[in-house]
Amino acid sequence: MCAEERPVYPVYIDLEVLLDVTKHALEELPREVIGFLLGRAYTWNGETYVHVTGSIRGRSIASETSVAFAPDSLAEVAESLRRDHPDKEIVGWYHSHPGYGCFLSPTDITSHKSCFAMPHHVALVVDPVRKEAAFFRVSEGFGYEGVRSAIVRRRV
Ligand SMILES: [Zn+2]
Repeated sequence: MCAEERPVYPVYIDLEVLLDVTKHALEELPREVIGFLLGRAYTWNGETYVHVTGSIRGRSIASETSVAFAPDSLAEVAESLRRDHPDKEIVGWYHSHPGYGCFLSPTDITSHKSCFAMPHHVALVVDPVRKEAAFFRVSEGFGYEGVRSAIVRRRV
């Protein structure tokens, strides 16, 4: 057995977190929701990967077709993390696309670039109607790409 044959995914997300995000999206239908993803970034063999272990619902200005963080909400979350979860950092954000699939719109790319400047920061998009979820990273210029991910089931 060779360790290198094991697949390495750039993003790991705890099942409970994915369920929380999906629940949030379902509760607010048909409006979009937005929130922060918490966890840690690790570097291993020169690759950075992210383990998402929590989420925080964001205050948003939302309609059926667009969503954005309320002003100051990023600073508020950073402050509450420092206070309550010093072991976690913001590793990205999530939002919902109710019924129209998982992708990043030009507005989403702009939001990502303004709030999440680190290369490991990820965007999770969930469609609670089609029951889809996908992770993305914003690349150089104005592009983005899908990020392979795996769900972690933790037994306590
Ligand atoms: Zn969007």
